[in-house]
Amino acid sequence: MQTSFTAEQLSDPHVAESEKILRKCVHCGFCTATCPTYVTLGNELDSPRGRIYLIKDMLENGRPADEEIVTHVDRCLSCLACMTTCPSGVNYMHLVDHARAHIEKTYRRPLLQRLTRAALAMVLPYPARFRAALGLARLGRPFAGMFDRFAALKPLSAMLKLAPSAIPAKSPFSLPAVHAPKAEKRGRVAILTGCAQSVLDPGINEATIGLLTRLGIEVVVPEGEGCCGALVHHMGREEAALASARRNVDAWMRESEGKGLDAVIITASGCGTTIKDYGFMLRLDPAYADKAARVSALAKDVTEYLASIELPAPVARPALTVAYHSACSMQHGQKITRQPKELLQKAGFAVKEPREGHLCCGSAGTYNIMQPEISEKLRDRKVRNIAATGADLVATGNIGCITQIAERAGMPIVHTVQLLDWAYGGPKPAVLAEGKRAAG
Ligand code: SF4
Ligand code: SF4
Repeated sequence: MQTSFTAEQLSDPHVAESEKILRKCVHCGFCTATCPTYVTLGNELDSPRGRIYLIKDMLENGRPADEEIVTHVDRCLSCLACMTTCPSGVNYMHLVDHARAHIEKTYRRPLLQRLTRAALAMVLPYPARFRAALGLARLGRPFAGMFDRFAALKPLSAMLKLAPSAIPAKSPFSLPAVHAPKAEKRGRVAILTGCAQSVLDPGINEATIGLLTRLGIEVVVPEGEGCCGALVHHMGREEAALASARRNVDAWMRESEGKGLDAVIITASGCGTTIKDYGFMLRLDPAYADKAARVSALAKDVTEYLASIELPAPVARPALTVAYHSACSMQHGQKITRQPKELLQKAGFAVKEPREGHLCCGSAGTYNIMQPEISEKLRDRKVRNIAATGADLVATGNIGCITQIAERAGMPIVHTVQLLDWAYGGPKPAVLAEGKRAAG
C-alpha cells in the first residue's frame, strides 16, 4: 500500500513503525474471511482491511480520531486472526495498538463510556479491588435486566452478568514465595500469578505450581510482579501499560540475575501475548529496552514450557473426551497450536477440535463488557460449535475464555493445566468433582 507521510510525521517513531506496517498491506482482503467482526457484521469497515484504511487515513492526515474510526476500532477484538491469515506479514497488532493510543489521546468519549473505562482500568488489574467489585456485582446482578434496556448501560449489565455467583477464597499460592521442587531439581521458573485470574480461579495457578514442583521445577512467585498491563494496553492507555511492564520487568530481572530463571511461566494466554511484546513496547526506553527484550524471550505459556521438558508416564488416565478451545491469544497471538493438544493426548485424554476454531469466543479482555452484543453473538456461535463435538468437557488456556463460555457451555470447562496436573498426580479439578463449572 502506498503511503504519503511527511518527513516530519515520520520523525515520530510510532508513526514510522505504523508506516512500515501499512506499506506491507497489499489490500488483498484475505483477512476479511477470518475476521470475527466482519463475519458477524458484514461491514468492510469492521474488517481488518477496512480498519487499516481508516487508521491510515487518520494517521496520514495527522487528524484527531472521530466517531467513525472509534466505532470500528472499538469493535475490533484484537483477536489477531487477521495476522494468522495475512500472506504479507502485516503486523495488525502493532498498528491497532498505535491507533488505540492515538484515539485515547485525541478523542473525548461520551461521559458514561469514560466512566466505565476508567472504572475498569482502576479495578480489574488489582486483585483486592477486583474481589471487592465482584462482591458488589453479586448484589447488583438482579438489576442486570433493567440496565439492559438502555444502550448506554449495557456495559454495566454485561459486567453484572459476567460476575460469578460465588467467589473462590483467596489462595496462598498467589503470594510471593519460593515453591521448592518435590523431585530432583531440574529447573527454576517464575510464575505470573496475574490479576483477574488469581481472583476468578486461583486453582489454575495452584495446579501449575503443584504440577511443576512435582516435576522437579522450583517455582518462584516474585515480590513486586503484578498485572501484565494488557487490559489498559487494549484501551490505549499507554503510560499505564508501560508502567505495568516496567514493574514486571524489574521483578523478573531481579530473579533472573539473582538465582536465575529458565522461563517466566504464564497461565493466561492473553497476558502471554502482551508479555512477549514487552520488548517492542519498551523499545524506545533506553533504561528498559534490553531488559524487556530478555523478559519477552523468557516468557512461556505453561503448555509451551511443559512441551519443552520430559514428562513421566501419567499417573491417572481419565477416559474423557476434551474439546480443546484454542484462545485467540494462544493460537494467533503466540502461535501456540500444537502443544496443548499434544500434551492432553499424551496425558490420556481424547481431544476434539470444535469447528471454526479460528473464530474468537467474544471475550477479548474487556470486550465482552464494552461490546456485549457482538460478544454474545460470538459466544453463542462458539458454544454451538463446542457442543457439536459431543465432548465431556472443554479445556482452554485463558481465563477470559473460561469466564465467557462457562455459563452457556453445557459442560464443565477447565484450564488445560488443571487436566495435566490431574493426569500427573494432582487433584481432580474442582469443577469436574462438582459436575459442572460454577456459572461465570
Ligand atoms: S490479508 Fe494482509 S495484505 Fe491482505 S488486506 Fe489483509 S492485512 Fe492487507
Ligand atoms: S484483530 Fe480480530 S477483530 Fe480485529 S481486525 Fe483482526 S481479525 Fe478482525
